[in-house]
Amino acid sequence: MHSHNINTNGFYGQFGGAYVPEILYHTVETLREQYLPIIQSEAFQQEYMQLLRDYVGRPSPLYLAHRMSAKYGCRLYLKREDLNHTGAHKINNAIGQILLARRMGKKRIIAETGAGQHGVATATVCALMDMPCRIYMGATDVARQHVNVERMKMLGAEVFPVESGNKTLKDATNEAIRDWCCHPSDTFYIIGSTVGPHPYPDMVARLQSIISQEIKQQLFEKEGRDYPDYLMACVGGGSNAAGTIYHYIDDERVRICLGEAGGKGIDSGLTAATIHCGTLGIIHGSRTLVMQTADGQIIEPYSISAGLDYPGIGPMHAHLAQVHRATVMAITDDEALKAAYELTRLEGIIPALESAHALAMLPKMSFRPTDIVVLTVSGRGDKDLDTYLKHQQA
Ligand SMILES: *Cc1c(COP(=O)(O)O)cnc(C)c1O
Repeated sequence: MHSHNINTNGFYGQFGGAYVPEILYHTVETLREQYLPIIQSEAFQQEYMQLLRDYVGRPSPLYLAHRMSAKYGCRLYLKREDLNHTGAHKINNAIGQILLARRMGKKRIIAETGAGQHGVATATVCALMDMPCRIYMGATDVARQHVNVERMKMLGAEVFPVESGNKTLKDATNEAIRDWCCHPSDTFYIIGSTVGPHPYPDMVARLQSIISQEIKQQLFEKEGRDYPDYLMACVGGGSNAAGTIYHYIDDERVRICLGEAGGKGIDSGLTAATIHCGTLGIIHGSRTLVMQTADGQIIEPYSISAGLDYPGIGPMHAHLAQVHRATVMAITDDEALKAAYELTRLEGIIPALESAHALAMLPKMSFRPTDIVVLTVSGRGDKDLDTYLKHQQA
């Protein structure tokens, strides 16, 4: 059977590749040549796994959610990425990339951030590894995500507010790429999701694949079999989902359900549901689905969840949706809010708004009582408290 994973040219079906300006060609090509030998080396794996254990707090628990299971008529396990250091899955990737950067002799780190979660994860690992760090963030997001900006500054990062375009994530990414073009030899660009030019989507997926590696082992211990019937995750760029499904991507016994940000609804004009609404294009070095006008201008995405409003989508996920390996649902703001309150009240876990887009798929499913369902809670909801309180539910 044909694999759903990446091919040797950096494509998932028709999606992926590396569409970069000539000035970056060498840098990206060098990364492509070096990432696998380094990541797969014993020395890297030892340092990476030790940090995941002692610094991040892995393995993250796989928790059988009893009251949620009763409600949805299945055996629902939550993969608790919310319990990681810095509060989400993003640290898994940031640690891996900075270890890679050091081994490649890079002296300086740059990153883009939207809500600030990837910026905080990157600033954290730069403090840990004593590397200078500049985080590009849209000026609108700097104003909206004040606490994360302060966290990054306290960690020693320079936060650079981007004033171009809509002053959000897309513009921050453009600015980070511009910086990279000016400093290709000494600077490592830590991308926060399974997006960007090859090899980033594959590299990030591999660094997040610790999630499904642990699920395999934990399920075997708890259920006597190492695969679930369903895997569920939210998708922004796609990294927590890629990590959740990585070791099951070609295992057809496992059904994959992905929740993207529908915003006010996919026909409302206020949405970030790229898989539902996007068309084939190129964004940030990758050929994928893009929210764009007929003449190729990016449409500003909208979601109540700052971590999900990206106008592109990882090429892996575009492919899995196209070949129907994954079922993709667009979850509205209201559905996500309701799901967040439900998890909080039934299990005492306040999820990130992003993760609530995975939880909100549950009422749309019909399970058998014996079905084993693993849903990744990608992050914790502390950062979203203001939003939750503004939309208080009974
Ligand atoms: C950034 C973020 C996401 C979305 O990013 P992916 O790459 O799609 O995982 C989801 N959940 C949380 C908690 C995040 O911080």
